[in-house]
Amino acid sequence: MHNNNYERIKDMIFTTTTATKEFTFCAAHLLGGHDGKCKNLHGHNFQLTVTCKPFTEAMEVGEDGLIPFGSSEGMIIDFKDLKDMVNKYIIDKLDHSFIYDINDVNQCEIATLLTAKGMKVFPFEKRTTCEHLAKWIFAELRKELIPVCNIKLRESPTSYAEVTDLCKS
Ligand SMILES: [Zn+2]
Repeated sequence: MHNNNYERIKDMIFTTTTATKEFTFCAAHLLGGHDGKCKNLHGHNFQLTVTCKPFTEAMEVGEDGLIPFGSSEGMIIDFKDLKDMVNKYIIDKLDHSFIYDINDVNQCEIATLLTAKGMKVFPFEKRTTCEHLAKWIFAELRKELIPVCNIKLRESPTSYAEVTDLCKS
């Protein structure tokens, strides 16, 4: 009976496959103009989750959406390549840095002082909210042709921002 039901519905089952890798980094920031605790300099152990979809725009993939031949056969992206690229383009820049809003005079002064003392800073073009950082990370990865379709940036065990590609392909 069970098998008969499966035979009847199997052509209606559509799936998508994604490949995900997780990263962590720590960084300091503050939110200028915030009327709560976030106006103070503080840090997060950020957790970044990067999910990739089959890269149909840029490469030939099989009917199952996976790379059909070579070293990466059967993969969406080699996890090692994904790790190396996300580390290079995102984690290495942000980890153990002070991420500061270049439009905020106070934060620029702090960044100047830290830089003069040989400490790591990362200039950011907007208020350094989790949402803005997540959108920036998504755009940077896409710029490097990484087939990312979703990222989650978690700044605490209960808070994260998520960016999703709404294009179906
Ligand atoms: Zn914060």
